[in-house]
Amino acid sequence: MAEINRAIKGTNDILPEESHNWQFVESKMLETAAQFGFKEIRVPVFEHTEVFLRSVGDTTDVVQKEMYTFDDKGGRSITLRPELTAGVIRSSIEKGLVNGALPQKLCYIGGCYRYEKPQAGRLREFHQFGVECVGAAAPNADAEVISLAKAVLENIGINKISLEINSIGCPECRKEYHKALKEYFSKNAETLCDTCKDRLDRNPMRILDCKSPVCKEIAENAPVVIDYLCDDCKNHFESVKAHLEAMNIDFTVNPKIVRGLDYYTRTVFEFVSKDIGAQSTVCGGGRYDGLISQMGGPQTPSLGFAMGIERLMMVLKAQNAAMPEAPTCDLFIATLGEKASIKASALCKELRDEGYKAQTDICGRGLKAQMKYANKIGAKFTLVLGDNEVETGKANLKNMSNSAERQIELNELVEELGEEIRKILFESIAEVF
Ligand code: ATP
Ligand code: MG
Repeated sequence: MAEINRAIKGTNDILPEESHNWQFVESKMLETAAQFGFKEIRVPVFEHTEVFLRSVGDTTDVVQKEMYTFDDKGGRSITLRPELTAGVIRSSIEKGLVNGALPQKLCYIGGCYRYEKPQAGRLREFHQFGVECVGAAAPNADAEVISLAKAVLENIGINKISLEINSIGCPECRKEYHKALKEYFSKNAETLCDTCKDRLDRNPMRILDCKSPVCKEIAENAPVVIDYLCDDCKNHFESVKAHLEAMNIDFTVNPKIVRGLDYYTRTVFEFVSKDIGAQSTVCGGGRYDGLISQMGGPQTPSLGFAMGIERLMMVLKAQNAAMPEAPTCDLFIATLGEKASIKASALCKELRDEGYKAQTDICGRGLKAQMKYANKIGAKFTLVLGDNEVETGKANLKNMSNSAERQIELNELVEELGEEIRKILFESIAEVF
């Protein structure tokens, strides 16, 4: 196929038959976030490359292998965002949110771009919903943010999912840990992949996150960071766990979670699903107390998470979660001739003003083809208008589910249709009880 008819590898089109599910999921995300006091922020799809180098970290897979970076026509290095935290924090510093009333509770939905090997659950363009809680140091903030992630998952219909948490400490306790890791990995330095050989000196913790099977095997028995926590970090972690327990949020401590981005400190967590194969992490997050100062802002302890919406959709499908029905059409008005078409335009306008979903023929098709179309789009009712109906002001309103017809006055169409739709609604409620 010619390239003009082919989407870029690793991208997905979200077609009309599916997009209402996305609308449902996204609206639940924003509603749930609002319950916790989080407000939406929208930031650009691209940023100066430096924004990501500074925040995500130049020893991470994302920066070393996955970024879409290019020079624009003005010779500036630009990168399509591989995640949104960096841009949100850049904006919070630049627009002064970090100097306002803290905590700032922010949430976002948007596309992300990573040059990865496309496979199930791993795309080059994917979408994230996430939150950033800026300026909250206390351990109950960690529990609150985890509880928000869980509420989002539950509100979109995902109940079977497990939460894994860990603490990766602060730069202070990590000094000791890095020493221990260096010592451990130095024994196998020659067998590590080239990227990890370089990481050994610069950031040995990143080796734990390497996807190469050889490095994974070597990392299997590496020391775990949780054994190296300082007293403050230990107490913080204990308190996070106590708050989670108080909220009845089940979790397991997985000392192997280190997260793929450099900016994390202390609490890190993942929600993992057994139902979607190898790419099983649906949500990842944690605390990043040093990020804002690292990006030139004031020292501001903060935390957040991001969930991959495509992976969530896969879980919903695999778990057969109930999704809302696609919106259909309340009334399709089929027309014969110019006068009927003009009348139909007026009636559609009236119905839509009252909140109904109304459509009429806009292709100049014959009656049979119009009725076929009405059927295809799932119209609940149809009305056929010809010269005669326009003159007498009367027409037959047809219920498409049982073919029952009833003559109505056109100037009472809004009330009559309303009545019929209420009847259907009552019948369906009666069925449930
Ligand atoms: P992974 O280990 O799967 O590569 P990650 O650590 O790179 O994940 P994050 O950067 O923490 O992922 O992104 C948060 C979430 O975004 C992930 O948990 C996942 O649900 C989703 N995600 C990340 N990369 C992709 C991708 N290439 N395609 C689809 N979803 C993704
Ligand atoms: Mg990744």
